[in-house]
Parts: sequence; structure tokens; C-alpha cells
Amino acid sequence: MTGKNRRNTPYITDMRPQDILMPVATGLCCKPGGFHIDPVRPVERAVITHGHSDHARPGHGAVLATQETLGMMRLRYGDNFAGSTQAVAYGEKIKLGDVTIQFHPAGHVLGSAQIAVSCKDTCIVASGDYKDAPDPTCAPFELVPCDVFITEATFGLPVFRHGNAADEIRKLLASVALFPERAHLVSAYSLGKAQRVIALLRAAGYDAPIYLHGAMEKITRYYENRGVALGELRLVKGVKKADLAGTITLAPPSATSDIWTRRFPDPVTAFASGWMRVRARARQGGVELPLVISDHADWDGLTATIEATGAGEVWVTHGQEDALVHWCKTRGLAARPLDLVGYGEEDEGDARPIGEDAET
Ligand SMILES: [Zn+2]
Repeated sequence: MTGKNRRNTPYITDMRPQDILMPVATGLCCKPGGFHIDPVRPVERAVITHGHSDHARPGHGAVLATQETLGMMRLRYGDNFAGSTQAVAYGEKIKLGDVTIQFHPAGHVLGSAQIAVSCKDTCIVASGDYKDAPDPTCAPFELVPCDVFITEATFGLPVFRHGNAADEIRKLLASVALFPERAHLVSAYSLGKAQRVIALLRAAGYDAPIYLHGAMEKITRYYENRGVALGELRLVKGVKKADLAGTITLAPPSATSDIWTRRFPDPVTAFASGWMRVRARARQGGVELPLVISDHADWDGLTATIEATGAGEVWVTHGQEDALVHWCKTRGLAARPLDLVGYGEEDEGDARPIGEDAET
């Protein structure tokens, strides 16, 4: 493949982008740097974008990631999840072999990073999962000019427009006000989405205690320890059914379909996900109150970001690659899907039906 760099001149180095980063069975491999990005199998040296379990797996020799991503891996896998670890700050430059890497905020979840890989005159940005929408629980997405931009495509279809998350929170609060005798049970992925929903509720002025399913306690407390204020939180376990009337509880998607929900008085079931834009999907999952809140960029976010990076070449991965590849080509950009497998298991990239969750 030939390409142009962001100054719109042909590459003047003999290094082609695919010599720098190459999709292989284990993930994205950087041969000249001697590492993999978000490898799905154990490797000698892994550079990890964020803490979701499909990107951050145990068993690597060395792991380079942000302090928060390392903290989340430690919570999930225990202290010996890797041979060694190195915490990398946003903006810090690290030389690995013949390349330099630099982490930039991805705006996806706490500690999430895009990895810029530079070799001679070529810069490739592997953005991992990202969103350009505001999120009070993590550093905002940073635009990184580059020659090749690797983008996710979880919501890579024009039908996906997430709108304003604050409006969805207003819907939830209106329902709580309307049904004071019922409990509100909000399904949200345990890492990132749950804490964002809580922070959005607080920003909207809701100051009552918020109840949590036990499975999301540790990660939520970790967010608080990293300085994300979430107000008063209580575990739902042991609380009397009658006392849950008029309250809001957050639970992982798996919990809402089992016997667990019987402890709530006449619960209104809500689900916070970008997939809630698809009404059939909400109906199928028995979701009474769909909340379109996503931690991934929507169609407008994806296309605006691609354009703004100035990249002449775009690699599209995990999700709905075809429409985005087509869009790039109509803009005169070189584009191709990357056939990476093993992603989209934990958060909204999850293609399985509502009611299943990788966490529990
Ligand atoms: Zn993710």
C-alpha cells in the first residue's frame, strides 16, 4: 500500500507503515520496537491502551500502560499479572528499539490512552477505544496529528448518533420522579460506564445515595481513589426491598436478567449503552428505559476525528469496518480494515445479546 503523510507528500523514508505496525494473530505487532499493542495472547512486551479485559490481559512479560490501567489490571488479575510493569504518563516519550512511543488521552475510560508510534518521519496512532464526547470521569480525548490513524469502529454506521448523555440522564431522573414507589435498575458495564453514569447523575444535581451491585464495588472505589468524586454510594446487598423504592441501583448487564432483580420493588429496567439507539435491541433485552450513553465515538465522532488527525491513511478495526472504510475512500484517504480478532468482549463492543456480560 502506498500512502501520503499529513503534509500530503509521498513518504520519503523507506519505512512503510506496515513495517512499523503489523496486525498478527496476537494483536498489533511493532517489530522495530519489539512490542505488541493490546495483545490477545501472552507476549514478551505489551503496550496496553486501557483496562477493559479484551485489551488488557494477564500473562505478559513486561507491560507498559498508564498508572490507572495498571491499577485496574492489578484489581482484576492480582499482583502478579505481568513479569514487570512500567507506568507511563500522558505525554511522556519512551524509546523502544527503533521507535518512540507516546501516550495521549483517549477519553474512553479512566486511564485510557492512544499510543502514538513514531519511526523516522512516520507517525502511526493506535487509538484503542475512544470517544470525543465529554466524560467527567476521565481525561478528554486528545487529537494527535499523524500519518496513519488506527480507529475503532464499534459504532461505525451512520445510524449511530449518541446525542447528549446529559439528556439521557434527565430522562432517567424524570422516570425516578414519576415512579417514586418503584426502584430504578440501571445496567451499565462495570468499568467506565457505571462510574460515568454516577458522575452524570451527580452533575445533574442528584445527591441521594446511589446503590451498587457488589460486582462493581472494587472498580468504583478505585475510581474514587484516583480522585473521581461520585458522592454517597451504598451496596445494595442487605438492603430491605421496601427501602429501595425511589432509588437508583447500578448493576452489570448480566445481573438484570436473573433472580437478583427480585429484591427490587417493581423495578424499572434501564440500560446505558450506545446500542440503545437500536429500539429492537432494547425491546429484545426487555429494557423499559433505554439510555443512549456510550463510551465509544459515534459515526459523527469517528468521521470528524479521522478528518482532524490529517492522516492520509486509516486502518479500521473492531466493529463495523466496512462503512467507515468506504467513507474514508470517498474522501480520498487510503483505508483498509484490520482483521484483528479477540476484541469487543467486555464493553459495548460486545456483540452478544443484552443480558450477558463478560464480567460475571
Ligand atoms: Zn474499551
